[in-house]
This record gives sequence, structure tokens and C-alpha cells, in this order.
Amino acid sequence: MPGCPPNPYNLLAVVLEYVTMGRLPALDEFSRPKFAYERVIHENCPRRAHFDAGRFAVSFGDEGHRKGWCLYKLGCKGPVTHAACSTRHFNEIPGVWPIGIGAPCVGCTEKGVLWRMGTFETVPIHLATPPDTYPPIYSNAGQFKVGAAALVGAIAGAVGGATWVASQRFQSSQEAGIARVTVDRAHAEKTKVSAEKQIPKKED
Ligand code: SF4
Repeated sequence: MPGCPPNPYNLLAVVLEYVTMGRLPALDEFSRPKFAYERVIHENCPRRAHFDAGRFAVSFGDEGHRKGWCLYKLGCKGPVTHAACSTRHFNEIPGVWPIGIGAPCVGCTEKGVLWRMGTFETVPIHLATPPDTYPPIYSNAGQFKVGAAALVGAIAGAVGGATWVASQRFQSSQEAGIARVTVDRAHAEKTKVSAEKQIPKKED
């Protein structure tokens, strides 16, 4: 079982499966038990959210390193290293594994990584930078660009103008409605009076 050292729980699990079931667990192409080596560390790394958001430590002891940001730019091999270190910590002590203490993964379970790549060399991976859908991390909060201000002003002006025009139309339609009602009432009064005049009075 590869690892430096291999996690004792993975070793114990293999031994117990063999003793109790009489067989070895399913293995991958390098004869590593799949239950422990099927996924790369990067998939379940506690620092993954920082990777996705583009927050990287760039030197040991810098602000990002002290805050627990992603170690990719310090040479972390987690994106290409198959191991369960990020989910099964050593001796069941939370955070006790290389990345947990701020040291980039060196890829000790991968034949083609350990001793074949520089410790601080970054591995070529797909999407090392965050996608465009994330907001920038170092935005200049509070600074409003002139173009943006002009755009906001134009939108506000357009909305204000449209509101004024609508209110004017509403007002004139109200006035027109009142005038129409007045005319209708006058007409109704007139019709009623002339009708009364035409009805002959009954003779007793
Ligand atoms: S690059 Fe390394 S530290 Fe960063 S999320 Fe992946 S495994 Fe974790």
C-alpha cells in the first residue's frame, strides 16, 4: 500500500477484510485498494472552497497561508494524487495530515509524482483558476468607476422620466374620466326632465 506512511486504518481495513471475508478488496490498476485510492485528494480537500474561489497561498507564512487557503501554488499535488488523506485523517486526529498542517501534498501515493516532480512545482491541471462566474477576490470595494456611475445615472434618469410621463397620463385620464361623468349626469338629468313633461297627468 503506497503512502508515506500509508494510513494505518486503510492497512487495517485490508487485513480485516482478508481475515473475515477471505478475499482482498477491489484493486485499481496499480493494485491499490479502491476504497482508499479511487479518488484524488483534491476532491474532498477541506481547502477546496478556497481553490474554487481563487484564494491561494503564494508563499509560506503569507496571509493566505495563515488563513488556510489553498496550497496549489505552493506545489500541492492533491489534484493528481489518489489517496483518502482528505477524508480519513491519521490516527483520527482532525487536521493531522500534510495539507491539514499547511504543507502541500507531495503525491507520495503516485508513482509518477513523488520524486519525479519538484516539491514546489505545480501540477498541470484543468481549471487551475476559478471560473468567471465567481466574483473577484481582490475587488476595490467602495470605488465606483466613472463609466458605471454614468450608466447608473442614465438608468435612474430613464426610470424617473418614465414615471413622470406615466403620472401625467394617469392624471389627464382621471380628469377626462371626471369630465365624462359630469357630462353624462347632465345629459341624464335633461332626459329625465323632458320625459316627465311628455307624460300626461291622469285625470281624477
Ligand atoms: S490544490 Fe491541494 S490544498 Fe488546494 S484544494 Fe486541492 S488538494 Fe487541497
